[in-house]
Amino acid sequence: MVVGLDIDGVVADFLSPFLKLLETRVGNGPIAAETIRSFNFKDHPFLTDEVVWKCMEKVSYDPEFWENLSSLISPEDWSRLEDLSRNAKLVFVTHRHVRETYSIHEVSSNWLRRHGISRPVVYFTQEPKGKLVQDLGVRLFVDDRYENCQDVAESSQALVLMPHRTYNQDFSHPRVHRIWGFQELFTHIDRLESP
Ligand SMILES: [Mg+2]
Repeated sequence: MVVGLDIDGVVADFLSPFLKLLETRVGNGPIAAETIRSFNFKDHPFLTDEVVWKCMEKVSYDPEFWENLSSLISPEDWSRLEDLSRNAKLVFVTHRHVRETYSIHEVSSNWLRRHGISRPVVYFTQEPKGKLVQDLGVRLFVDDRYENCQDVAESSQALVLMPHRTYNQDFSHPRVHRIWGFQELFTHIDRLESP
């Protein structure tokens, strides 16, 4: 059984350094993660589409931004993921932008290796993730953005898990299961693999 994982917001903390960058751009003081109610940053009291888009573009050209992200999961979780990976049961699927100035593939793979995934398999796409997840034969998929969860749930056979975040808290879907801790993934794997 193949497990598919999004990277940012699932295993890597994208939001904290991204909010720091927004703070320096906007100059309006700290931006609390709890104020981000949707990942499009819509309806935020003072963040505009333009500043968010500019910061997204800036980080997409900055390999150090991605190299320096913190992990959101424990060493035990990484070790269980490495077990899956060694058995060719783990892929990562990300919307990180591919730029010509550096290899985001290499940067992302090195970051995963640093956390113990010896031979990471990472797919980059700018399309909705559902079709790729289906084509890869993924049975269990994890993503923090509800738009991705919905697309994967509706266009693939995968069971979809969505880690609880402030920015996805209002979303519910009959085929998307909210999880409150990453370890719940392993419970689902055990359940799906038991005869
Ligand atoms: Mg994500």
